[in-house]
Amino acid sequence: MPAAPRYKRILVKLSGEALMGDDAYGINRDTLAGIVAEVKAVADLGVEIGVVIGGGNIFRGMAGASSGMDRATADYMGMLATVMNAMALSDAMRQSGLNARVQSALSIEQVVEPYIRGKAIRYLEEGKVVIFGGGTGNPFFTTDTAAALRGSEIGAEIVLKATKVDGVYSADPKKDPSATRYARISFDEAIGRGLGVMDATAFALCRDQKLPINVFSIFKAGALKRVVMGEDEGTLVHV
Ligand code: UDP
Repeated sequence: MPAAPRYKRILVKLSGEALMGDDAYGINRDTLAGIVAEVKAVADLGVEIGVVIGGGNIFRGMAGASSGMDRATADYMGMLATVMNAMALSDAMRQSGLNARVQSALSIEQVVEPYIRGKAIRYLEEGKVVIFGGGTGNPFFTTDTAAALRGSEIGAEIVLKATKVDGVYSADPKKDPSATRYARISFDEAIGRGLGVMDATAFALCRDQKLPINVFSIFKAGALKRVVMGEDEGTLVHV
């Protein structure tokens, strides 16, 4: 008999940049389809999946602010970008036969439903993938923090941070060839070593809530499924 998944409910944090593929901007449809296939493989195991999507492929508040925009205004634009990504992701999921719902932390009711925790949990129990757009709904935060927040709210057992790099390294592997990947590391050790797993607010929330984080590469075929099956993949940040 095949082994059972290690987790029943997970929160996947997908960066906006992951949707770009090799493009310089926006959403690459083939890349999107590949990501959806990775998520579907896990949904087919009966795992309940929440997704927090970033917006960096379209707009980042910091970039707007550095070009002279008011930071809060720029951050709201970034949050709107995440809603666009959420819509594209749910569309691709539906086309692949996955039942997906988008909820947004910002009210744009003609376009997406508002975030309602109880409803999100009901969707998860019904086997629907819930995509959380709009970040936390507040400027000066990031979608990493939204992932820690929504993960805690929906009672996810783990936050799976999907990145382009396959885990947390002792140094930047692009700059330092001697950098090694941690298979497991505790929150305290990650802080002690000054490793940037997620931004500080997100990291602190996960730590307080005893919510582990597994960093992995979304571009490594089958990696998401291996994490969910409890195999060593990427880096597990544990309590
Ligand atoms: N953002 C925000 N509050 C949030 C989440 C996101 O203001 O709770 C804005 C912020 O400007 C950020 C942008 O939305 O730069 C896109 O999100 P993020 O940079 O986290 O996306 P990612 O890096 O995952 O693509």
